[in-house]
Amino acid sequence: MNDMVQPDDAPNHDNGMAPDCAVEGAATAPVPIEGIRGRLTQDAPLAKYVWFKSGGHADWLFEPADADDLKAFCERLDGDMPVMALGVGSNMIIRDGGVPGVVIKLGKEFANVEVTGPTTLKAGAAAPVSIVSRRAGKAGIDGLAFFTGIPGSVGGVTKMNGGCYGRETKDVLVDCDVILPDGQFVTLGNADLQYSYRHSALPEGSIVVEARFEGFPGDPDTIRAEMDRISSERKESQPIGSMTGGSTFKNPPGHSSWKLIDAAGLRGFKHGGAQVSEKHANFLINTGNATSTEIEELGEIVREKVYANSGVQLEWEIKRVGRP
Ligand SMILES: Cc1cc2nc3c(=O)[nH]c(=O)nc-3n(C[C@H](O)[C@H](O)[C@H](O)COP(=O)(O)OP(=O)(O)OC[C@H]3O[C@@H](n4cnc5c(N)ncnc54)[C@H](O)[C@@H]3O)c2cc1C
Repeated sequence: MNDMVQPDDAPNHDNGMAPDCAVEGAATAPVPIEGIRGRLTQDAPLAKYVWFKSGGHADWLFEPADADDLKAFCERLDGDMPVMALGVGSNMIIRDGGVPGVVIKLGKEFANVEVTGPTTLKAGAAAPVSIVSRRAGKAGIDGLAFFTGIPGSVGGVTKMNGGCYGRETKDVLVDCDVILPDGQFVTLGNADLQYSYRHSALPEGSIVVEARFEGFPGDPDTIRAEMDRISSERKESQPIGSMTGGSTFKNPPGHSSWKLIDAAGLRGFKHGGAQVSEKHANFLINTGNATSTEIEELGEIVREKVYANSGVQLEWEIKRVGRP
């Protein structure tokens, strides 16, 4: 998996010091972690953290105790080691060769959701946006009901500009607190993120730790009804209970990806253990023991066949990370 770190070099978890070893694409200097309170794990399996339930290990997995801990840890990395945030893995393929550098996974310390005013909330980056949506609805804050249809975290939607039913994160996000890969703490406003369709300008390797949202006044019962409608529509139209990664491809301007995939005759198409969902053609699913390679290859087959059939080039929405 990680051929640059020999088993004998591997320390026990949380032993106080990272090994004096080279990690692919990273600093050769050791990273002292005295005083760091979070949990640092070498060669950590990631499949359990992603919806596809496939893929390799992180060279390092760091689960910080809190934002100060994450800041202190990143300062020591000094920007030399690749850093990647992992949310709840609902829009991600972790490749089978694993992820170089450090993967940051935020835990329950980052999952607090608080109503801060008549139309405002703040939420830790690990909070599921469905909870943000529910809390907003109960408090009579309208405009965030669409979050109920997205199974991601606050950090994930902030990065991806997650959205559905004609609304996106950019419509409700005020600003967010971010730790850059060298440990700098910055607050980025909505405009700084330069949102476009399923894209933000969040700097590479940075970690969102908290975000603030604003909606508009609404009636809790009406909002609740809208959320129920969204939830049942989703259950009808998406393979919610499957090992999947959400919409595989962005909708090309003027087209629906699922219609293009359907028109190419690919609904239900299988490649190894991976399959184009029978329920929603823009979803790929792991039917049981698919490797990430099979899932990604299936996506590429879909792209080729759709292009041959319609002349439209599909663009991946799912983030594909790590070594093949
Ligand atoms: C059944 C299903 C339905 C879905 N429906 C929708 C939908 O309607 N609309 C929609 O937009 N998406 C949808 N998705 C996709 C997914 O839920 C969103 O893209 C969501 O924003 C991803 O959040 P996550 O926490 O799972 O992020 P991950 O998949 O873990 O990561 C996605 C990206 O966000 C980054 N990231 C995650 N956390 C942080 C953080 N704290 N700081 C910085 N970067 C971070 C990761 O590095 C990665 O680049 C669906 C997925 C599934 C499985």
